[in-house]
Amino acid sequence: MARVIFDEERCKGCKLCVSVCPKSIVVVKEDKLNTKGYHPAGVNEMDKCIGCAFCAIMCPDCAIEVEK
Ligand code: SF4
Ligand code: SF4
Repeated sequence: MARVIFDEERCKGCKLCVSVCPKSIVVVKEDKLNTKGYHPAGVNEMDKCIGCAFCAIMCPDCAIEVEK
């Protein structure tokens, strides 16, 4: 199973990663704020991740790492 790690402090909540995930499992956590004041992205159902790394490639802030 693949694992996706988000650096929440680097994230600026732009949602580019949300838009490219083919499994629609990347979400912006509306109930959370990082120290810059953005809602950070994360994955809700990690067991559905296929490890395609589209989210990591798309992130302009290199805030996502995918482990296979
Ligand atoms: S690696 Fe692919 S399937 Fe997994 S969260 Fe990122 S975009 Fe979605
Ligand atoms: S693409 Fe990067 S900066 Fe934008 S919401 Fe996703 S993790 Fe955050």
